[in-house]
Amino acid sequence: MPKLTNQIVTELAKEFGFNLIGFAKAELITDEVNKFEQWLGKGHQASMSYLENNLHKRKDVKEILPTAKSVISLALNYYTDYEYSKDKDKGKTCLPAGKVSRYAWGKDYHLIIWDMLSEFELKLKELEPELETISYVDTGPVMDKVWAVKAGLGWMGKHTNVINKEIGSWIFLATIITNYEFDYSEIITDHCGTCTACIEACPTNAIVDEYIVDSNKCISYVTIESKGEINPEFKGKFDYWIFGCDICQDVCPWNIKFAEQTFVKDFNPTDGETEIELQKILEMSEVEFKEKYAVSPIKRAKLKGLKRNARFLFV
Ligand code: SF4
Ligand code: SF4
Repeated sequence: MPKLTNQIVTELAKEFGFNLIGFAKAELITDEVNKFEQWLGKGHQASMSYLENNLHKRKDVKEILPTAKSVISLALNYYTDYEYSKDKDKGKTCLPAGKVSRYAWGKDYHLIIWDMLSEFELKLKELEPELETISYVDTGPVMDKVWAVKAGLGWMGKHTNVINKEIGSWIFLATIITNYEFDYSEIITDHCGTCTACIEACPTNAIVDEYIVDSNKCISYVTIESKGEINPEFKGKFDYWIFGCDICQDVCPWNIKFAEQTFVKDFNPTDGETEIELQKILEMSEVEFKEKYAVSPIKRAKLKGLKRNARFLFV
């Protein structure tokens, strides 16, 4: 009898705070990586050239863990029901301020999930000392969304985020590659149907086709990852987003109907802030920035990037 069963691991994952868990066979994902290569071939990765590395590892998790038999996919809900003052006031009375993507309102999710994962894996290894694991949270050469779909957590929406039928798409993903064999989860069929709400709502037409996002046009990429000045063709199209963009997920009926409040308090907006005031950011020093955003995802854009975004939105 195996010491670890799907039921034991699933119960433990819930105990350690994860909302969703699923199990997939560690097989080659050739079709998915071929599609990814086509996406790269069109230059949709923009300046994120690191995405071109280690395609052999993306295709075959045994290149990462040679004894791999399964991939466990986990998800953590980060939805909190705060609003933007712009939305509350319909843009009339608020201070000039830029909206921050929901995922970056609170503490950096990497820090939260790494803590949860390391305790979870430690517990699994206590129960089964032979267990080998290598885990990733949104970094490394692992197709986390593909594995989430294969592990039955949800389907890939036309906006390219994974959607779960019970809680929507406001989820962070974690992936564990392991040498242990499990019963594999059933794949959930695509439930986007004829809906195209995300494609129609995207103000920069970044969803260039169903299930294909061109990073060059995506506000999220442009405000966080890109360096240099912002293409003037986007002037007036950013809808006050200063860090990231949630429009395609905000309009998704699965989020509108099913998003649930997370129990992770650290995902609540720090100091209640869902926006950054233009004046504050333009006057902020490096020391203040490092202090204010020390454990926030916002630090990724760097002060220089935030100031650039603020100037692009308001000046
Ligand atoms: S994040 Fe914003 S800009 Fe990017 S695809 Fe979604 S709606 Fe478009
Ligand atoms: S908005 Fe509609 S098309 Fe887009 S991901 Fe949601 S259900 Fe799918």
